[in-house]
Parts: sequence; C-alpha cells; structure tokens
Amino acid sequence: MTAVGFIGLGIMGAPMAVNLVRAGHRVIGHDVFGTGPARLAEAGGETADSIAEVLATAEVLITMLPDSPQVEQVVLGAGGVFEHAKPGLLYADMSSIRPETSRRVAELGATAGIRVLDAPVSGGEKGAVDGTLSIMAGGAAEDFAAARPLFEVLGGTIVHVGQSGAGQTVKAANQLVVGGTYALIAEAIVLLEAAGVDADLGLDVLAGGLAGSRILEIKRKSMVAREFAPGFRIDLHHKDMGIVLAEARAAEVALPVTGVTAALIAAARGQGYGALDHSALLKVIENLSGRGSTTR
Ligand code: NAD
Repeated sequence: MTAVGFIGLGIMGAPMAVNLVRAGHRVIGHDVFGTGPARLAEAGGETADSIAEVLATAEVLITMLPDSPQVEQVVLGAGGVFEHAKPGLLYADMSSIRPETSRRVAELGATAGIRVLDAPVSGGEKGAVDGTLSIMAGGAAEDFAAARPLFEVLGGTIVHVGQSGAGQTVKAANQLVVGGTYALIAEAIVLLEAAGVDADLGLDVLAGGLAGSRILEIKRKSMVAREFAPGFRIDLHHKDMGIVLAEARAAEVALPVTGVTAALIAAARGQGYGALDHSALLKVIENLSGRGSTTR
C-alpha cells in the first residue's frame, strides 16, 4: 500500500483516484472545485484542504489538472508542491500540458530531489473509470519503474516513451489523431444523413472494417443521437491543438491536416460549444452545410 496524494479530482482525476483506493492504496485527494472530493471520500479516500496537507503524508503525488498554468500554480506557486515536498518524492503529472512546461518542472524538481515524470493519458472518461487508460511517460527510467505499479492500476497500455517532456509530445500526437478522426466521422454522419441513409447502420459497417477505430466503437451511437455531454471538453481539445501546433512549429514540420482540424475545433469553441464533448465537432461540420437544424 502506498500513500498517494492526488490533486485535481475532475472528470478524469476523480475516477482515477477512486481506482487507486479500490486497489488498496491510501489516497489523499485535493481539489478546489466540484464533486470530485466527495466522490473520493465516498469510495473510502481522504480529502485535504491544502497542498501542504496532501504532502504531509504522501509518498507519491499525482496531479490531473486542466492546463500548464494550473500545473505551474499548483507545483511552482506559493504554497505549492515544491514548497512542501520532501526530497525523494515521486511526482507524476498526468495532465496534458506543454512539453516545455513538463521539462521545466522536472528540472526544478531535480534540484530539490523530487523525481518528476510527465505521464499524460489517453482513453477518455471511460478509460479513467474502467482503469484502462493509455499512459505515456517521460522521465528517468528508474522513476518510471517506481511509478509503474500505480500506473498499472490506472491503465492498460503503459509505455516509457523517453526523457522529460516526451510523454507530452506523444500526447500531442495522440490529440491530432483523435481530433482528425472526430472530424472525419462527423463528415461521414453528415454525408450519410444528407443522402438519406441510416447513419447508425452505416457507421456499424464502418466500425467493423478498415475505417474502424476506438472512437467509432465507443462514440458513434452518441454522436448520431447528438448526445454531447462531456467527456472531453472542446475547450480542452482546443488547448491541446495549441500545444500540437506549437510543437510542430518548434520542430519545423508542416502538418496540414492538423491545421484544418485545429481550425474546426477553434470554430466549435467560437460557435459556443466549448463546454460540450469534443464529439460536438459534428455540429460545426453540420453548420458548414447549413444542416445545423438536425442538431438536437
Ligand atoms: P476537469 O476540468 O474535469 O478537471 C480538472 C480539475 O482540476 C478540476 O476539478 C479543477 O477544479 C481542478 N483544479 C484546477 N485548478 C486547481 C488547483 N489550483 N488546485 C486544485 N485543483 C485544481 O478536466 P479533465 O477532463 O479531468 O482533464 C484533466 C487533464 O486531463 C487535462 O489536461 C485534459 O486535457 C486531460 N485529459 C482529459 C481527458 C478527458 O477525456 N476528459 C482525456 C485525456 C486527458
């Protein structure tokens, strides 16, 4: 049993923390908003009012926060993790943030004897609840090995992909594929419906053939039914596409399909869908053809 501090108990963090409790670990959770702490307490976890309280007994710390500014505030800010952590702490940031922020946190951590991993995830809320996330970790091999037993509670595919920041770069690659896939599934739905073909039946066929994907498997029914409760918010995917485009620019590569996908996700935000699930990209594709009225 390990004492695990867990900061950020949102859509992803709350079920991940609950899974750690169910696996027999002592979990001390902290959030500043929402129902996550209550969910954790109900499952037998502990809740803390401050970062200092989390770190008073945690041997391992996990953060699952929205974006780079929140990670910087929680970790580097006044009263934050690096102020209260004892040397030797193993710290995995599982949020999706800029690789350069991860590298900076790891460098500053190393000077204080804190072992930092960037370990973002893929698999969505369902993967978090089921404990089947894909986890892509950057950092030192021995720190990854130490964190691996906890990662195995949270996920199925767990890979050490390189040094600090590498996990975030793999996550950026993941997000461009996910965004592009949603855009194309949305286009398939619009085409099928406009041509008078049953989209549910059509997508059942696609899901079983070469066009099949995990997204088609788990999201096609809700997309055709226009159920867009998050899940993964458009706002967060917009954040991720910003990371992807910045990484592409830094690496001096052209990613044209990614550029179009990023523009469509920005349009979704601009059209007021930021709080909806990223599958609501369908609404943008419908609107392009003046078929927005089909959206319930
Ligand atoms: P979320 O907004 O539901 O959860 C984030 C939580 O962090 C919130 O509960 C918020 O109150 C908390 N928080 C923010 N600032 C804080 C602070 N200063 N101190 C303590 N808590 C603070 O977001 P989410 O969907 O759980 O996503 C979390 C991260 O995981 C993001 O980086 C996201 O891109 C990534 N991610 C999400 C999904 C998904 O399907 N939702 C999938 C893979 C990766």
